[in-house]
Amino acid sequence: MAAWVEGHVIERIQWTDTLFSLKVEAPLLPYQAGQFTKLALEQGERRIQRAYSFVNPPSSPYHEFYLVEIPGGELTPALSALAVGDPLLVQSQATGFLTLDEIPAGRDLWLLSTGTAIGPFLSLLTAGEAELRFENLILVHGVRKGEELSYQPLIAALKSQLGSRLHYVPFVSREPWPDAMAGRIPAAIDSGALQERVGLGFSPEQSQVLICGNPEMVKATQLSLIEQGLTKNLRRTPGQISSENYW
Ligand code: NAP
Repeated sequence: MAAWVEGHVIERIQWTDTLFSLKVEAPLLPYQAGQFTKLALEQGERRIQRAYSFVNPPSSPYHEFYLVEIPGGELTPALSALAVGDPLLVQSQATGFLTLDEIPAGRDLWLLSTGTAIGPFLSLLTAGEAELRFENLILVHGVRKGEELSYQPLIAALKSQLGSRLHYVPFVSREPWPDAMAGRIPAAIDSGALQERVGLGFSPEQSQVLICGNPEMVKATQLSLIEQGLTKNLRRTPGQISSENYW
């Protein structure tokens, strides 16, 4: 059985009315960029728990999680109400396969996300290994409203570190937004608009694609990439498409 340890909130960032990040100190076992653990709060006799990915690189002295408050939800309103110094429970052993050691070699690493699922990709990018293994890093983030494009300071820092090797492509689907693409990620793959914006196409030889987010978006994006000639990456039959549903 997985062990729970007590952690404490050391910082919180409120991005919008519902989006927030928690930085937590807790004695966790070592983990890899792209993995997730569980956060929990005791409510009476019950322990309410949910899985959340690390946003930070594993070398960081704290653990950071990016969350959306689901109105009326069992856990997220209580997590959102936590203040600096408050305790919470964290599972000490992380898990998950959205890690670079599961990804075959390639030239271009595409990281396609929606909503809070950009978190594990920020961990992968800040951990530093992706830039050693891939020439081009493409971070794609789809949200409904422009204000949900969180982590701009971190993305700007990555951009100044990696220069033209990092392509950041925001999608805003429900309002016009400067520099963002309109609509949804799979439609932009089908039309070629995403490839045109980045200046790179998809190919089995050059591309590795990680998808994380809304389960419907994950499914639709997998189909679009299969149309582009890519295949799912399985341990027995390596391919180019790796994915994780975020809820
Ligand atoms: P979302 O509905 O996931 O939308 C984020 C982006 O994904 C939008 O641009 C949206 O486009 C696009 N999208 C939605 N369905 C798609 C599909 N089938 N194919 C391609 N793209 C698609 O919005 P969100 O704000 O991130 O999350 C919405 C709700 O999901 C939350 O409020 C919460 O209820 C739930 N959620 C739950 C958890 C959890 O852990 N349980 C975590 C995160 C979110 P459109 O604007 O065109 O729809």
